[in-house]
Amino acid sequence: MKTDLLSMFPEELAEFCVQLGQPKYRGKQIFEGLYKGKRDLTEFSVLPKDFREKLSENAFIPTASIKRKLVSAIDGTVKYLYELHDGETVESVFMRYHHGNTMCISTQVGCRMGCAFCASTKAGLVRSLMPSEMLLQILEAERDLNERVSNIVLMGMGEPLDNYDNVIKFLKLVNNESGLNIGLRHISLSTCGLVDKMDRLAEEGLPITLSVSLHAPNDEKRRQTMPIANKYSVKELIDACKRYIDKTGRRISFEYALISGVNDSKEDAHELGKLLSGMLCHLNLIPVNPIKEKNFQRSEKNAIKLFTETIELYKINVTVRRKLGADINASCGQLRADDSNK
Ligand code: SAH
Repeated sequence: MKTDLLSMFPEELAEFCVQLGQPKYRGKQIFEGLYKGKRDLTEFSVLPKDFREKLSENAFIPTASIKRKLVSAIDGTVKYLYELHDGETVESVFMRYHHGNTMCISTQVGCRMGCAFCASTKAGLVRSLMPSEMLLQILEAERDLNERVSNIVLMGMGEPLDNYDNVIKFLKLVNNESGLNIGLRHISLSTCGLVDKMDRLAEEGLPITLSVSLHAPNDEKRRQTMPIANKYSVKELIDACKRYIDKTGRRISFEYALISGVNDSKEDAHELGKLLSGMLCHLNLIPVNPIKEKNFQRSEKNAIKLFTETIELYKINVTVRRKLGADINASCGQLRADDSNK
């Protein structure tokens, strides 16, 4: 197995160069070249030719090439379908907000969580992404648009905590001062609720924002759309969230996709309100994006209003998510699914 150079910290690269009989500072030269956009070892003219040859025998640089690109005429949101070195594809979305450019990236090719409303999971999990392949989604968008990304959300395809070690390494890499230097406070990680991994994450000491995809106020309803609810009860999930808040002192963000007639009644809102009341949290209500494979409809305007007002009775911080890229199918998994049906 060849070493993936773009998944390494500067210190690891330095160590690797020493192992190949080179001085330490070669590591820094490689790291800098990678972040300047070099994707082929032949482009590293600062390195001696015989070392470049030795490197290519032992290491490689993964790539992500833009296979499709859709630009929203409404708000300038850009959606990419990237092709990876082995021909697999992943999606990422670049969004412009007042507080800066945000990139939504994928952590896996496909997903094995099986949520009924989600397009990314329909064909199961193909493979997890390397740290480099998460980085590339940002680096190649920055290069393509000639703009900087300041915020990252791990809300594309895949379950980040199902690719735990690579995701943690990615977070530390994007945060590296000599790399992209993006603050951890500007990064959100979304999970469907892998309780054991949430406990592990709480111990990492990374000041990211944790988002939890709740989507139902009780076990019975959650099991209807989210298979993970058969493994962990809502109570176990909420308890893990409380432990996370206690340990990190950080607010948790709950995601709740409003599906007409499924989880959007006034009773559902009361149950959810009681569940979250008193927690250091924020609730994001997202009218569900209907996907081809399933006949879920977004909630009516009045239902959303009533749901929000009911939640507010419990003094919970709640917002209805603004939708970007409505004309380019910006919700995750849909572009890749379309592409593979061709
Ligand atoms: N696996 C992670 C992150 C990826 S999905 C997780 O489950 O959190 C990012 C968010 O989009 C999750 O909250 C997910 O439940 C939600 N989502 C997926 N499909 C959706 C759809 N069709 N409409 C609205 N939200 C959706």
